Amino acid sequence: MNNDFNLDADTNPKICPLCHVCAKTSFFKGGNVCDHLFTLLLTDPAFQASVINIPWVNAHGAGRGLSQVDTPIREFRCFGINRMKIHRNITFKRLLLDLYQDFRCQKPVVRLLGRPFQRSRRHIEMDLTYRCNLKCQNCNRSCTQAPSNLEISLHEIDSFIRQSLDMNIKWERIRLLGGEPTLHSCFSDILDRLLEYRSEHNPTLRLVVCTNGCGKRVNRILSRIPETVVIKNTFKNSQQRLFRPFNMAPLDRARFALMDQTAGCRILKDCGIGLTPLGYYPCAIAGGIDRIFGHHFSRRNLPNPKDEMLDQLSLFCRYCGHFGFAWPTRKIRISPAWERAYRKVMT
Ligand code: SF4
Ligand code: SF4
Repeated sequence: MNNDFNLDADTNPKICPLCHVCAKTSFFKGGNVCDHLFTLLLTDPAFQASVINIPWVNAHGAGRGLSQVDTPIREFRCFGINRMKIHRNITFKRLLLDLYQDFRCQKPVVRLLGRPFQRSRRHIEMDLTYRCNLKCQNCNRSCTQAPSNLEISLHEIDSFIRQSLDMNIKWERIRLLGGEPTLHSCFSDILDRLLEYRSEHNPTLRLVVCTNGCGKRVNRILSRIPETVVIKNTFKNSQQRLFRPFNMAPLDRARFALMDQTAGCRILKDCGIGLTPLGYYPCAIAGGIDRIFGHHFSRRNLPNPKDEMLDQLSLFCRYCGHFGFAWPTRKIRISPAWERAYRKVMT
């Protein structure tokens, strides 16, 4: 049974799957799906509560935007590991936040209310490697568009730990990502170093491994990770999922002309600063952008807490599809600036 509904479509009310749900309250009797969703959002407390964490999955309508509400995030048992949760990047809540950030990053609004997002001092994401065993379209580390085996050295991890101690920075959360982080050639050594840092200096640190959970090798490594490390598993496979159109550069689109590029996006706050094989950035995504555009504009050392990293934001956000609002897609979407950069890096 295909129970898709499409937020973009001007749906016939007779087949709108929400008519029977909000018939009692609808402001738009006979309206389309958008009207019904809007009505429910305004009037139904149960619906309001449920939208907070609904993940959106385009399971059927290839290339046609949002189409199906999937099961909520839940505990998942896999290869004997029962502490993993299905983790989804596209949720209704996040889309609403993206809409808000689009408005909040307009230059006049920033002038009036100040910058909406500050770079994090408590969270850090480490892109251990750009190696990945999947080929997702619109990958925001360009692992599909421009594959690479580049990886962080153990020396860089040691130096991060040393500098964190010297600067008395107490991280609340360290996330290990990539690419697929478990494919780093010294993944277990890196994890050991960070576990040692946690037990000796920072016992409240939350250590998270973010994985695509795909393939025997990845799952074998995941099964060896100690219980005290959180695993965030997106359970991806070769089937394409919805992604934001990461390669649509704001600088190629007139609609972004009025946006303040140093404003960044909520990833600054939610995910934290980035340590990548190229150095430190206000977010790990910016490091992935620098790998392709070749500006070599990283911080070589852990940034001082007073450093807002605005120069990096103003350079990298103009290329980044996470800036402002964009409909998630499964189609390959690449704007001219990215096309030129990929051509250059692949020759
Ligand atoms: S699994 Fe993640 S890193 Fe790998 S291609 Fe997909 S989005 Fe990129
Ligand atoms: S580079 Fe992209 S992800 Fe990072 S702050 Fe800017 S818009 Fe957000």
